[in-house]
Amino acid sequence: MTSKKLSKAYDFKSVEKRLYDWWESSGYFKPRIDLNRKPYVISIPPPNVTGELHLGHAMFVAMEDLMIRHSRMKGVPTLWVPGTDHAGIATQLQVEKHLQEVEGITREQLGREAFIERTWAWKRKYGGIITQQLRRLGASCDWERERFTLDEGLSRAVREAFVRLYEKGLIYRGTYLINWSPGLRTAVSDLEVEYFEEQGTLYYFHYPLADSDESIPVATTRPETILGDTAVAVHPEDRRYRHLIGKTCLVPILNRPIPVIVDSYVDLEFGTGALKITPGHDPNDYEIGQQHGLPVVNVLNPDATMNANAGPYEGLDRYLCRERLWADMQAEGLTIKTEPYTMQVPRTQRGGEVVEPMVSTQWFVRMEPLAEPAIEAVRQGRIRIVPERFAKVYYNWLENIRDWCISRQLWWGHRIPAWHCLDCGEITVAREDPANCAHCGSMRIEQDPDVLDTWFSSGLWPFSTLGWPEDTDDLRYFYPTTMMETGYDILFFWVARMVMMGLEFTDQPPFHTIYLHGLVRDEHGRKMSKTLGNVIDPLDVMEEFGTDALRFTLLTGSTPGNDMNLSIQRVEANRNFANKLWNAGRLVLMALDKARIEPKDSPEPTVADRWIMTRLKELIRAVDRLFNNYQYSEAGRQIYEFFWGEFADWYLEIAKLQLDEGGDRAWLTARTMASVLDTCLRLLHPYTPYVTEELWGILKDACQDQPASYEPEVGWEEALIVATWPEPSAKSQEEDQIVERFSLIMDMVRAIRNLRSERGVEPARRIEAIISGGEFTDLLNSLHQAIAVLARLDPERLQIHPSLEKAPPESVPLVVGPIEAYLPLAGMVDLAAERARLSKELDEINVQIKRLEGLLAGPFSERAPKDVVQKEEKKLASLQESANKITGQLRSLE
Ligand SMILES: [Zn+2]
Repeated sequence: MTSKKLSKAYDFKSVEKRLYDWWESSGYFKPRIDLNRKPYVISIPPPNVTGELHLGHAMFVAMEDLMIRHSRMKGVPTLWVPGTDHAGIATQLQVEKHLQEVEGITREQLGREAFIERTWAWKRKYGGIITQQLRRLGASCDWERERFTLDEGLSRAVREAFVRLYEKGLIYRGTYLINWSPGLRTAVSDLEVEYFEEQGTLYYFHYPLADSDESIPVATTRPETILGDTAVAVHPEDRRYRHLIGKTCLVPILNRPIPVIVDSYVDLEFGTGALKITPGHDPNDYEIGQQHGLPVVNVLNPDATMNANAGPYEGLDRYLCRERLWADMQAEGLTIKTEPYTMQVPRTQRGGEVVEPMVSTQWFVRMEPLAEPAIEAVRQGRIRIVPERFAKVYYNWLENIRDWCISRQLWWGHRIPAWHCLDCGEITVAREDPANCAHCGSMRIEQDPDVLDTWFSSGLWPFSTLGWPEDTDDLRYFYPTTMMETGYDILFFWVARMVMMGLEFTDQPPFHTIYLHGLVRDEHGRKMSKTLGNVIDPLDVMEEFGTDALRFTLLTGSTPGNDMNLSIQRVEANRNFANKLWNAGRLVLMALDKARIEPKDSPEPTVADRWIMTRLKELIRAVDRLFNNYQYSEAGRQIYEFFWGEFADWYLEIAKLQLDEGGDRAWLTARTMASVLDTCLRLLHPYTPYVTEELWGILKDACQDQPASYEPEVGWEEALIVATWPEPSAKSQEEDQIVERFSLIMDMVRAIRNLRSERGVEPARRIEAIISGGEFTDLLNSLHQAIAVLARLDPERLQIHPSLEKAPPESVPLVVGPIEAYLPLAGMVDLAAERARLSKELDEINVQIKRLEGLLAGPFSERAPKDVVQKEEKKLASLQESANKITGQLRSLE
């Protein structure tokens, strides 16, 4: 008895881990290499090695696993390369924090080498957690190919890339204005800085001229930078200041002389129309300073306290200096006024402290020569971005790209392969650690202390993970990869850089398609954050509702490039869908059990059989089309609707009647049920891998248990994960008619159901119906039993005629296309009871009407305020209307 194998309810807890281990140990995650076929490859967006699973991970795992499982089922050699990122700043901060809390020491006290050792130990201890969590989401990655950005192979790739770029002159060292994070004590790239609109102050003051009583009014939001000013600029057309051009001003308090220069960059409308120029602490001023050959004065230490250039303010914190300097200027009569001012404040992505533009010597990548081919690759269609609107954003960023500051003053990461010579001062960049300076041969060389920005190594990810720079079999066969699936928020950080690096080092785009998903927000559309307390932990959700429910919710709730709002109610509803699948599975197994006999003839399918099989074909075609257009959400929704709304709610109900007929009819019905279930499980597998695999395995056993049972055209495969994907068939002529005819029956049943609920007929009550079927009489007769069951009619009192001479009396007509159905009222409700109820209601209303009529005819209408009287009049009118309606209803029941 096969049905015994299927428990009453789907228990995801007993299924998920068992199936995952089975898949992995059976080698199903490994690609079946076929050199004659082009493979399908995705490189995973590597999560931070010591990170914690969040919904962003759940989103990309669900989406990529769907793509991977679909491709695998299509028989394409399929590879999903997993791995993790060393995450420079994030990991280093974690370890530093731990050291501080547990041992009370800083990384400086520990020393560089020991600190790096500790960080590796940390990675070994916690690094496996995130990959275990990805497994729990069902990720069918080839774990034997797992990589880590700091492992040996990838470190060699990073070094090779650095050396090549340096040799081409695309990596250089320079002193420029960069974003400095005082708390982290490192440079950060432009992308790691976020701008927040905040309330600040605009400070107006006099810039005094040397040897004159005149002054130029100037405004600033950061007075402490006055100490680093090296010019005051005015607009060439500004008559107010024209006579001052070329004269000398004095920096307040410091009395350092600086020139008044002219530059059309100055905005006549802003502030006072004159501009203080601080090349050392403002990017625009830096540009102006370069053009005018102005000196750069840095007034800040790396920890954002003031340095010696700040004169009497040396050693003060930047904000304290601001206060003191302003007070001193006030005392000297140099201040004019202050006013509130809304401004864009730069803060670091990590930590959120205010970033200081500061001049510093760093390593940079020259981006323009790399950006051009990356723009071309998308323009020429060698890379496609989904959704297309992001191509514009991509072009815009690359066309205005600035050089990338790649050095970080950290310890955890790829150390820059450059050695400074203490004798000649030159730099030696090399693939192998050098013993001597390449310029003068001196042995007194020291390696650059900085490490590379984490995104430098992730930029090489699609090819470094396959063995580059070695010419490996994997690199030759699997590269370029197929799909880059990730969140739109890292289009610049990661995706664009991979395109640039891929083109530079491999002469090929690293992938053909970029699919960008949106962010997961809470059910009200708010960003999830610890402060708001609305963070949903995917592990909790999986624990409560199962992995399939979470995956299906994420996959059917998101469209390319758009954010999605996640509600737990939806996850719960999708858990119910897994149960629905399970219950349908139970019915199918019972049917197979009931219809074990071999058929005598080859039985003809019924109208319902034909309908469900035709609808299934239509569904396969729709899903195929939607998958080709990356509309996975809509495809999932349609499979769901078909399974629940058509197969379970309609076909299975009719199938029960067909099974009762026994013999060949039952045999064919069970076969049809099994066939539809099998196909639906295949279509759903990429969305909900666990419940489908479990149920499919049981279905397969049940079918194989009987000689004449259902078998897929392709035979039963080993496992659903490697089973064949349903291919769309050509549309046949009769399909439309089959669906239309059955839809007519469905519409009629729905119309009867609606009327029943409108009239409050109890669900259990079997009512009478007289149907005039016209040309559909035969069709209706063939479904006599089914219609009675589905519309809850009394089969003894369901009459189907080709036509009626006249409408039956006391009945409600329903018209559905050419079919007319009459439902006698006497059959729907208890007429006597209904009459009694209505009469009682009418009596009560009449009492109230009498009372009000009496009131309004008396002195009340004269004495009471007008609006009170009107209110009573209105009440009366409404009561009279109700009385009329009830009287009408009573008449119709006579
Ligand atoms: Zn040297």
